[in-house]
Amino acid sequence: MLNCDMGAKKASLPSANSKDEERMAALVAFTAKTLETSRPVPFGALIVNSKTGERLLRAVNAVAVENDPSSHAELRAVRLACKQLKQVSLAGYTIYTTCEPCAMCMADALWARLDRVVYGATIADASKHCLQIHIPARTVAARSDMPCIVDGPVLRKQCYALFTHPNMIAAFALWSNRKPAKAGGT
Ligand SMILES: [Zn+2]
Repeated sequence: MLNCDMGAKKASLPSANSKDEERMAALVAFTAKTLETSRPVPFGALIVNSKTGERLLRAVNAVAVENDPSSHAELRAVRLACKQLKQVSLAGYTIYTTCEPCAMCMADALWARLDRVVYGATIADASKHCLQIHIPARTVAARSDMPCIVDGPVLRKQCYALFTHPNMIAAFALWSNRKPAKAGGT
């Protein structure tokens, strides 16, 4: 395979690569643990140091647990990271998320000055199961003054499998933002 990485254009912040796949696979495994609990969620997020790859923290969606519609995985991860670091900037960090960030979470990533967002499943994938805001993360980033690289989908199939796990399908039926069943559909 041809590798044109040497002397790359984005030397310090390479775009999607095998490390991204490794980290996403680990995040899928972490998020999948919720599938065996009473509150399964397909949404997980991981924040790592952009240069060293060292893990800062992980979080899953806690909207139901916290009775907070803004408790999305990415937003929680950013909140926890900033509190842990005692700073408002996450410049120098990258967030991985099992699903493309919604407009709220992408905006939060920008306000937090994250270097990079790497996502798995897409908003369109999630939209098959729960209500979504149909603004691509890249569009939110492109209209911002804050630079942020958006990469994805990475391991889309594995990430989407979180949504279609039988326990998750059963849980979606109880979600307040579930996708209404279409006439004639299942
Ligand atoms: Zn969100």
